[in-house]
Amino acid sequence: MTEPSHEEPHGGSLGARLNWLRAAVLGANDGIVSTAGLVVGVAGATGDRSALLTAGLAGLLAGSMSMAAGEYVSVSTQRDSERAALALERRELLEQPEAELEELTGLLEERGLTREVARDAAVQLTQRDALRAHARVELGIDPDELTNPWHAAWASFLAFTVGALLPLLAIVLPPSDWRLPVTVVSVLLALACTGWSSARLGAAAPARAVVRNVGGGAVAMAVTYAAGSLLGAAGI
Ligand SMILES: [Zn+2]
Repeated sequence: MTEPSHEEPHGGSLGARLNWLRAAVLGANDGIVSTAGLVVGVAGATGDRSALLTAGLAGLLAGSMSMAAGEYVSVSTQRDSERAALALERRELLEQPEAELEELTGLLEERGLTREVARDAAVQLTQRDALRAHARVELGIDPDELTNPWHAAWASFLAFTVGALLPLLAIVLPPSDWRLPVTVVSVLLALACTGWSSARLGAAAPARAVVRNVGGGAVAMAVTYAAGSLLGAAGI
């Protein structure tokens, strides 16, 4: 399953919000593909609606909880290392304020300020909130906006669930003759939307992303349907 990336600095910035949105789209995409593969595979073996519902619901819950747990672990680990970096920074500011001022000046200079302006800016930033200045300029994090692991876990859970509901409803609601066509068509359309959105949010070419995403989903459903049909025909 796709791990949303947390490499960019957090905070209320546009970049961070786009990162969240992109992670949500990818989470929904995972929910669509894995649940579609699951229910189409079961539909290859049996026409029993309650078997389809059970398999789809179990897949939805297993997938969304696995995504949430993975996200919780990854964000917790990241937050631990951000906190450790902040604690170290706090100690350095106490123990060697002059060296830290010089370090901040150097970092601002690297960003294109002249020596004098960088020095002035570093002095002002240090007077206002030295830790925040170092956190932002040096570590690229905002000490007030560290990602909450529970929020991240909940967001992944929801994103996967929303995606997974589509193939689940598409396979159990229509009359039995319509199940497969309705599921395949709605899944491929949804994958075109998620492929297009994630490409746009990542500033990549949408057309290629749509083709890859729809192609991947089509292959997943074809493979599980073939496997399910073989098992169903063999009476296993
Ligand atoms: Zn520092």
